[in-house]
Amino acid sequence: MIRDPARLDALLADTRSFVRGRWHPLEDQVDRTDEIPCAFVDELRRKGFFGWSIPEAYGGLGLTAEELVLCAMELSQSSVALRARVGTNTGIGSEGLVADGTEVQKARWLPRMARGELTGCLALTEPDAGSEATNIQTTARRDGDHYVLNGTKRFITNAPVADVFTVIARTEEGTRGHAGLTAFLVERGPGLRTGEPYRKMGQAGSPVSDVVFEDCRVPANHVIGEKEGVGFQTVMKVLNKQRLHLAALCTGPAIRMLDLAVAHTSKREQFGQSVASFQLVQAMIADCRTEIFAARSMILEAARARDRGEDVALTASMCKYFASEMCGRVADRCVQMFGGSGYIADFCPIERYYRDVRLFRLYEGTSQIHQLNIAKLTLREHEVGLR
Ligand SMILES: Cc1cc2nc3c(=O)[nH]c(=O)nc-3n(C[C@H](O)[C@H](O)[C@H](O)COP(=O)(O)OP(=O)(O)OC[C@H]3O[C@@H](n4cnc5c(N)ncnc54)[C@H](O)[C@@H]3O)c2cc1C
Repeated sequence: MIRDPARLDALLADTRSFVRGRWHPLEDQVDRTDEIPCAFVDELRRKGFFGWSIPEAYGGLGLTAEELVLCAMELSQSSVALRARVGTNTGIGSEGLVADGTEVQKARWLPRMARGELTGCLALTEPDAGSEATNIQTTARRDGDHYVLNGTKRFITNAPVADVFTVIARTEEGTRGHAGLTAFLVERGPGLRTGEPYRKMGQAGSPVSDVVFEDCRVPANHVIGEKEGVGFQTVMKVLNKQRLHLAALCTGPAIRMLDLAVAHTSKREQFGQSVASFQLVQAMIADCRTEIFAARSMILEAARARDRGEDVALTASMCKYFASEMCGRVADRCVQMFGGSGYIADFCPIERYYRDVRLFRLYEGTSQIHQLNIAKLTLREHEVGLR
């Protein structure tokens, strides 16, 4: 749903010129230093990028799902670190509160997250809880009007720079699976330690680390929604929205890579003509363009369905699966279209994009987990006679 087309067009145009004018010239530096300059993060704050999906009542833009995916496709026509810096606040780091927080909790944290004064993150994964996300070992033991958290979270995007952590922990001893899991909003403080940022394959400038809880005391009123035992339901609400968001964020880099490849192949000459004039190269251009269009179309349709209040568990999963795989194929073809230069970081950004986008098929559900989910939901529909 687009509430005000003129306003959205202005936001898209502004985002587009910011990405091209301010971020693209910085991409190399961020890749080399593995850091986004503080002054640039301030600029992101001033431009309101942290608050895109936070409701207007709490100082954000309150973008609908359709508006959010359109903006995300624009913002992500860039190296991934840019959108990763703001993306936890517009996605997994705030959505638990937006979906299930109490009024008091929303008023306490969301306005500062929308302004980018607080960076949020989602701490779900653990050393033994990856694809099996419910195998959570982090415990939260009630002690008076507090809970005491112990355990380790792994691979947490923005943890090194985060101020607030949506944490899923086991509150009921002896439970397994999704029973007995509770979502907490934990502020950085005593008992919570983040590790050194990992050395990664790509996405330089986007810090990811462990989060360790050692007798970390969290006030009982920081349980999201003040409801114990429903943490996994909260996470699923976060992920259903986030999968659409992430699918859009996989589409932007594919658009940018194809733009770069088209520009390169149009200029580069071999055998006395541009390499873009060779039909085998044109086939790669056509395949990229077609798959980008397919991803964009399915994401927009699913986003509109979500805005109508429909259940998008199946379609969001399909979008994330298709868009992330599509982006990997586009990256591979674009390296090919650049020839040897596509392999050399000194010559063009394609090498970096190729590494950056590899992660898309791994996090927020690997492709295999989405395949299983899509098949499970399809078979369930068949059983109940919906198909
Ligand atoms: C850089 C980075 C950032 C991340 N950010 C976050 C974050 O902010 N917050 C957070 O909570 N998590 C985050 N994650 C964690 C991410 O979501 C997990 O890595 C992902 O869910 C996969 O879990 P795993 O790494 O333990 O792989 P595993 O579960 O060990 O999977 C290994 C392989 O086995 C396959 N596999 C597993 N189970 C099955 C099955 N039943 N059937 C078929 N194949 C299967 C997988 O598809 C994969 O190919 C991040 C990860 C990375 C690398």
